Amino acid sequence: MLKLRNTLTRAKEEFTPLENNTVRMYACGPTVYDYGHIGNFRTFVAVDVLRRYLKYLGYKVLHVMNITDIEDKIIRDMQKAGKSLAAFTGFYTDEFLQDADSLNIERPEIIPRATEHIDEMVAIMHKLQANGHTYASDGSLYFSISTLSDYGKLSGLKLEGNQAGARVDVDEYEKDDARDFVLWKAPKEADEPRWQTPFGEGRPGWHLECSAMAMKYLGETFDLHCGGVDLIFPHHENEIAQSQGATGKPFVKHWFHVEFLLVDGKKMSKSAGNFYTVRDLVTQGFSTAAIRYLLISAPYSTQLNFTLDGLKGAASAIEKLRNFRRRVKEIDGSPASHPRIQAALERAQADFEAALNDDLNTAGALAALFDLRRDVNTAIDEDEFGEADKANVQALLTRFDTVLGILGEEQEVTLESEIEKLIGDRYAARKHRDFARADQIRNELAERGIILEDTPQGTKWKKK
Ligand code: AMP
Ligand code: ZN
Repeated sequence: MLKLRNTLTRAKEEFTPLENNTVRMYACGPTVYDYGHIGNFRTFVAVDVLRRYLKYLGYKVLHVMNITDIEDKIIRDMQKAGKSLAAFTGFYTDEFLQDADSLNIERPEIIPRATEHIDEMVAIMHKLQANGHTYASDGSLYFSISTLSDYGKLSGLKLEGNQAGARVDVDEYEKDDARDFVLWKAPKEADEPRWQTPFGEGRPGWHLECSAMAMKYLGETFDLHCGGVDLIFPHHENEIAQSQGATGKPFVKHWFHVEFLLVDGKKMSKSAGNFYTVRDLVTQGFSTAAIRYLLISAPYSTQLNFTLDGLKGAASAIEKLRNFRRRVKEIDGSPASHPRIQAALERAQADFEAALNDDLNTAGALAALFDLRRDVNTAIDEDEFGEADKANVQALLTRFDTVLGILGEEQEVTLESEIEKLIGDRYAARKHRDFARADQIRNELAERGIILEDTPQGTKWKKK
């Protein structure tokens, strides 16, 4: 039985879906104003392991992950970049999905964009207004937190001492500064993106976006809502307020929050400047499988300190597991199967599931995999490994990897084929005497640590 810690109740609870066999889950997606860093991806990988394990247990999953494509930081940076909203966010959305694919993160069933759900947001505002939760001021619409008796229940916030009516327009703010928050914002500058609505022209607050998309695709009450711990307040608190305020029903049964990836004891974040992107690390020669391994090497519920040494350790762990898989594949055993292998397989599966059932302890699941490797390697050394064992071990490795997603070898191929493609593009550019483009490709590759050498047999490449 899967037990997960629920932020709302602060307890580990048995997880079962509210209806039938389908888990309806929502994960707050990226704010697309830059490349994601691996701190962001720690959360997305943890949610991916969760969805994969739910499927392993036999559930169907309906997983929605939004794209926040209108928000304070986006407006600030699109203006700096001199791009339209659609061009600016479209670019970073594509880059995010590529990085997620490279980390073997399964695509959620539905990936809605905030700007395509303005009508649903307006419908929620109508309901909130009818239920007496809103007030208008200076062309914006606010949610009055004192109108909900249980505001603050997710983050454990006490409302005493708050000034009634004090309000905030920004999307992110501190917990000790709980205030009425904005649902719909009047434009502040002439060139800000805006929509015409019965609440005036303007744009949505960040929190409203998620309530609208979650309830549209998953219903008014659903099973699971996920994100990093920094989203507990104010984002998720405010999502609950809006959704419950509109429907009068509980919004989400189970809240799943992923702890931070740290660097030198501090949260990895764009604003602190202490971040690595997936592509930074790939350029340094690390595989995306190693990055994924590192991100799941500690349970999601504990903080994880990132170091390059840790990443090297992850790369060598992947190498060991792949060598093991290769060794098993290449063995020519007798037709027999051996009881010790059967016992090792049963133990590994029981340990793997016990660890994941205990609040998705991925460190324990990896330990079960390494125990299996040790037991099977010893049996092979002692010549007690047959053809039937081989098939059983291979089947269990494949089954484990449906959850862990670390053994596939696709990524190296992708990097190489990408380089080969750029070499082809450079050849074509030179043929068309477009030497600027050819040089640009050479420089681009050099920045990624790839050196080109033109020989009579064609262009060769090597890593610096
Ligand atoms: P954002 O694009 O900033 O909205 O963040 C996307 C997701 O990454 C959210 O669920 C955040 O909570 C999460 N996140 C941001 N920084 C970290 C970090 N250092 N460690 C783990 N998760 C993070
Ligand atoms: Zn959200």
